Amino acid sequence: MKASQFLISTQKEAPADAEVASHRLMMRAGMIKKLGAGIYTYMPMGLRVIRKVEAIVREEMNRAGAVECTMPVVQPAELWQETGRFDKMGPELLRIQDRHQRDFVIQPTSEEVVTDIARQELRSYKQLPRNLYQIQTKFRDERRPRFGLMRGREFIMKDAYSFDRDAASAQRSYERMSQAYRAIFDRFGLRYRAVAADSGAIGGDLSEEFQVIAHTGEDAIVYCPDSDYAANMEKAEALAPAGPRSAAAEAMQKVATPGKSTCADVAALLGLPLDRTVKSLVLATDETDERGEVLRSQVWLLLVRGDHDMNEIKVGKVPGLDAGFRFATVPEIIEHFGTKPGYLGPIGLKKPVRIVADREVALMADWVCGANEEDFHLRGVNWGRDLPEPHAVADLRNVVEGDLSPDGRGRLAIERGIEVGHVFYLGTKYSKPMNATFLDEDGKPKPFEMGCYGIGITRLPAAAIEQNHDERGIVWPDAIAPFTVVVCPIGMDRSAEVRAAAEQLHDELAAAGVDVMLDDRGERPGAMFADWELIGVPHRVVLSDRGLKEGQVEYQHRRDKEPTRMPLAEVAGFLR
Ligand code: ATP
Ligand code: MG
Ligand code: MG
Ligand code: MG
Repeated sequence: MKASQFLISTQKEAPADAEVASHRLMMRAGMIKKLGAGIYTYMPMGLRVIRKVEAIVREEMNRAGAVECTMPVVQPAELWQETGRFDKMGPELLRIQDRHQRDFVIQPTSEEVVTDIARQELRSYKQLPRNLYQIQTKFRDERRPRFGLMRGREFIMKDAYSFDRDAASAQRSYERMSQAYRAIFDRFGLRYRAVAADSGAIGGDLSEEFQVIAHTGEDAIVYCPDSDYAANMEKAEALAPAGPRSAAAEAMQKVATPGKSTCADVAALLGLPLDRTVKSLVLATDETDERGEVLRSQVWLLLVRGDHDMNEIKVGKVPGLDAGFRFATVPEIIEHFGTKPGYLGPIGLKKPVRIVADREVALMADWVCGANEEDFHLRGVNWGRDLPEPHAVADLRNVVEGDLSPDGRGRLAIERGIEVGHVFYLGTKYSKPMNATFLDEDGKPKPFEMGCYGIGITRLPAAAIEQNHDERGIVWPDAIAPFTVVVCPIGMDRSAEVRAAAEQLHDELAAAGVDVMLDDRGERPGAMFADWELIGVPHRVVLSDRGLKEGQVEYQHRRDKEPTRMPLAEVAGFLR
């Protein structure tokens, strides 16, 4: 490829909304272009990376016996009504109507469509097991699209679905995918962890997330350095020793029946006066799944003194609360936590409570607080103690660093991760409501045992950058670099020798199947090198008149501090 024919659109500055390195660098390197919130064009340079990610995923999926198809992006609502997801799924599901006012959805995943295919095409146990996958555009109307491709609204996902005749066979299919995922993520050359995830209502341990380790990750993962225990926070919490941590928690648990309780109910249980002094009590609740079902609720107390007319609150499950109330004034809190005045509330509050200065607020140990503003959240806050670093995503948890691992083999550590893949045993969750059956050996119809397996194709490059960048730009792992080698001739338009040598090297590498770029734009060396360092091409070869007189070129890996001289005659062999 020649740079003069390609579209290189590097930028000096990143947009103001780019908060993490991958977003900033993908924008600056001209890999993506924003069209709307969470909606991006994959520019030629970015698309090359995405295609490489796809190719690796496709190869390993095929190797694991999955077969590729492409399902429609726009799907009739009728199918989604069969499973109830059309109504149950929250606003993440984009619903649209055609000219006849018929309802459709834009696929966020495709369980319904693939199950519909299976019930028509897989009639006999003899056709099982089968695994169908696609690499396709998805749309999720994310509440908070951010970090560029990391949490887009339109994005590309590889989604695979397995169909088996019974649970034992389905578990083997699941295992196969889980192994294929390891093979895939090993090839990307990233540090990742496979962690146990909650399998929801289905039970069992058959759900794992593949988390790329990065401090900017939105997920908390819990692991034990002394054993192979690793789980995401939700799963770890579900396994945490039951039992409230304090009397206050015990009291809270009593009202922890989903539904509505009033402030008075809760305050009475806590033995707190709910009168003119303590008027209202607020809590954060409800992390829901894609069907809008409550997965996890968290309750944070915020007691506001003065007259505040919040008298209805929804109480969910309470993971644990520490006792020990102490009242403080808002100006004190603002000063102490370094948050900004305005909204101060626990994470996840659907309706933040406006705290007017001079109201008083009760605080507890180990809670989360912050202005309702990005990056101003604090976790593990204890009144009067030193404050921890602010975290973008907060978690007040039952599971904390240093707890004993559930396998008893060591202490727990917590780190942050980016969910790049997820494997999930579904059982008959979709096949039963859709009446998707096959004829088993005994001649009787049975519902398929299913599994689903996703990989965030466009999230992966962002995760790779979070792990691999420096002050000059991206440092791509070879496997997914847009180009593996860039040939940079100096003074190409002045020197016929440089031009000829550069073109010959380019052609030779290209013929050997190396993804090589020849920068024939005629840029000055400084600007040219800066571009390729920003874009993150792993290998660079510089040709100049002076070097060529001695038959030498300069080779530099993106991670090298200095270039190395190398005979021109050897460089192609070295890079092949
Ligand atoms: P998250 O917890 O980050 O919202 P998810 O659990 O909702 O992800 P899944 O339904 O498991 O996502 O989808 C499979 C994969 O698709 C995820 O592991 C992730 O890599 C990718 N993915 C999900 N949502 C997005 C998004 N908004 N932008 C980019 N990739 C995404
Ligand atoms: Mg999600
Ligand atoms: Mg998730
Ligand atoms: Mg997931």
